[in-house]
Amino acid sequence: MNKNKTWKITIKGMVQGIGYRPFVAEKAVQFGLRGRVINAGGLVVVTATATEEALASFTSFLQDNYPDGCVIIDISHVEVKYVDFQFFSIEESVYELQKGWIPQIPPDIPVCDRCAAEMRDSSNRRYRYPFISCASCGPRYSIMDKLPYDRCNTAMDDFLMCESCKKEYTQKGGIRRHAQTISCKDCGPQLHFNNAGEKGEGRIGESGFDEGTGLLKRGGIVAVKDIGGYHLACLPWNADAVSELRRMKDREKKPFAVMFPNVDEIRKYCQVSDMEEKILKSIARPIVLLKKKEQASAMDQGVCGNSPYIGAMIPCNPLQIMLMEECGPLIMTSANSSGMPIIISDEEMNDWLKTKPVSCGSGILWNERDIRIPLDDSVIKIVAGRQQVFRRARGMVPLPIKLNANATEQIFAAGGDLKACFCFAGDGVAYLSQYLGDIEEEGAERLYRYNYRRIKSLFGFKPEKFAADAHPLYRSAKIAEQIAEGTEVIRLQHHRCHAASVIAEHGLEGSIIGVAFDGTGYGDDGTIWGSEIFLCGDDKDYKRIAHLKPLKLIGGNEGARNCQTMLCAYMDQAGIHGDDETAKTVAAALKNDINTVTSTSMGRLFDAVSALLGVCRYNDYEGEAPIELENEAMKSEEPYPLNFEIEDDGESIIGNPLPLIYNIVEARSKGAVVCDLAMGFHMAVADFVAETCRRLRKRDDSFDQVVLSGGTFQNRILLERVVELLEADGFSVYFNESVPPGDGGICLGQVYLCV
Ligand code: ZN
Ligand code: FE
Repeated sequence: MNKNKTWKITIKGMVQGIGYRPFVAEKAVQFGLRGRVINAGGLVVVTATATEEALASFTSFLQDNYPDGCVIIDISHVEVKYVDFQFFSIEESVYELQKGWIPQIPPDIPVCDRCAAEMRDSSNRRYRYPFISCASCGPRYSIMDKLPYDRCNTAMDDFLMCESCKKEYTQKGGIRRHAQTISCKDCGPQLHFNNAGEKGEGRIGESGFDEGTGLLKRGGIVAVKDIGGYHLACLPWNADAVSELRRMKDREKKPFAVMFPNVDEIRKYCQVSDMEEKILKSIARPIVLLKKKEQASAMDQGVCGNSPYIGAMIPCNPLQIMLMEECGPLIMTSANSSGMPIIISDEEMNDWLKTKPVSCGSGILWNERDIRIPLDDSVIKIVAGRQQVFRRARGMVPLPIKLNANATEQIFAAGGDLKACFCFAGDGVAYLSQYLGDIEEEGAERLYRYNYRRIKSLFGFKPEKFAADAHPLYRSAKIAEQIAEGTEVIRLQHHRCHAASVIAEHGLEGSIIGVAFDGTGYGDDGTIWGSEIFLCGDDKDYKRIAHLKPLKLIGGNEGARNCQTMLCAYMDQAGIHGDDETAKTVAAALKNDINTVTSTSMGRLFDAVSALLGVCRYNDYEGEAPIELENEAMKSEEPYPLNFEIEDDGESIIGNPLPLIYNIVEARSKGAVVCDLAMGFHMAVADFVAETCRRLRKRDDSFDQVVLSGGTFQNRILLERVVELLEADGFSVYFNESVPPGDGGICLGQVYLCV
């Protein structure tokens, strides 16, 4: 017999501040439950009466269905004393953090459709109010000071609610009941426009908006305050504005991101798949790298140069919607000098503009709502039918990542120094910081330390275990030593952590081949590693089994940037001795061991091949030469056959790149086409991975899973080819989908390996 019982259902996860309770209430009614739902300190608790069958279908539905932005970690239920509920209701939040629970903190949520519609409705009291928000949208993480998430604990505490807003805040049923960010033209933050360097209030509201958009339309550059920091905006069609913008940002060479009014508008310039559309519209409103269409040539060449991709996004906040409707699409690039954190302070932004005068004029669209923490735009691309995150920041942080490891103690993992990102873990979940830049830069190190303190206190973390990279000179490791105050810091090898980050993310078990390719990481033997293949097992003792042949390369930061000198080092060891100055200098340096390192770096090999083919001789930004090489390869219709020489002694497998370098030189002298050689090189790297995996499985057939990680796998051609080859051979292949494949993801691997 179907007997009604009363159940207490506990839903653990990121379920706050995103309209989860109304969602649960609606579904509960559909599934025939009567009772109530409450927020209880980061948990959602449903107490309801229903049959066992109804309960089971309800909970399994909740496991797989949730509003965008939710992360469900666990759903459990127990039977409690019978209550004869008559209907289903949403109850007041009670904040009582249960002992041992890690609280969940919402990320910033883009403006919802209802608020956007109200903003466009001339009869609404928030018509064209660019800071409209409700209980399920608006800034969250970027304005929070502490828990609970109440207005008095956020940057909104500066604004006293007017009578009308107070009424909406308290009245039952409305979309702004308990909306902590509620505000309006009478009581909330207002839009201001000032010309660069101009002090005071500037033009307020509509007149400020008109001045700002007027300047944009005339080809000016306007700093626009977003949720996680300032953007610099200008028209992508205006060559003068685009080149002035590059000059302002210290002649930065990276492609600029472009904001479009909506996905249909993007489609005019780029190819957009269903999955890409879904990600563009996801709550992170990330920059998505999309393949250009012919029509994109209407934009100035300076926007994204020779790249076949555009970093495209759609509006996140109400002001951006208004800007897009008035003068979109617009370049929206983070406001900072190259290598520095994104600017969040109005005063600093205005001063910065003043020091960088531009002929077409510049100004600032600001508001009084404080940003507590800089958050860049997140960056995602779709590759091999899956998502790959390059930069995990606004809208993604601080969402938890499930960890397939039973962390009983809380752990702090310091990550690496480049593309720095640390994490806290506990309770089987990891919380990663946002992308923090290269902490070799002083500003980024300060940001790292500040974020450590902020995240620690927001969540109330008390780490008992500490992990850091094995590199003896990493600042992140030094910071970890300071934080640990004498507790041992577990030092872990860089590439093992890359591999482990994929294993952790996908909850893999058993025998796994771990492939980690990147530019640089400190190896067990004190040399620089960068093309490592491990045999990974549940004992977490990853054995290095294959890599490129260790070669003598030029060390230091300049070595990593200068592809031409790197090429000379490879050529010299391949027996090709050039007679130009650079070649001679490098040969002498190698001979006398001046500033040399022994390295198996895959990144440097890409640099050298890029220089060898005349594609890029110097990395003006990290990864430029490999990116340009990939772009060149995309033009090829018939890859030139190239391969690594494989040395297999039945124990280690070594790929020797020197004959390959030699073959490229020879092929070029015989007139082989550059793009075909570039493609041939990509294929050779993929073949090396596939062949090594085949040989390892032949030795032990339990190794039928492969994980791919490290910055080199940001390369789409390489990643897709490796996945294709291995899957065709019956391997299960995994790569990073929720954390970056580059060094921004290693903190997750560190946590996994030290549990
Ligand atoms: Zn108000
Ligand atoms: Fe790395």
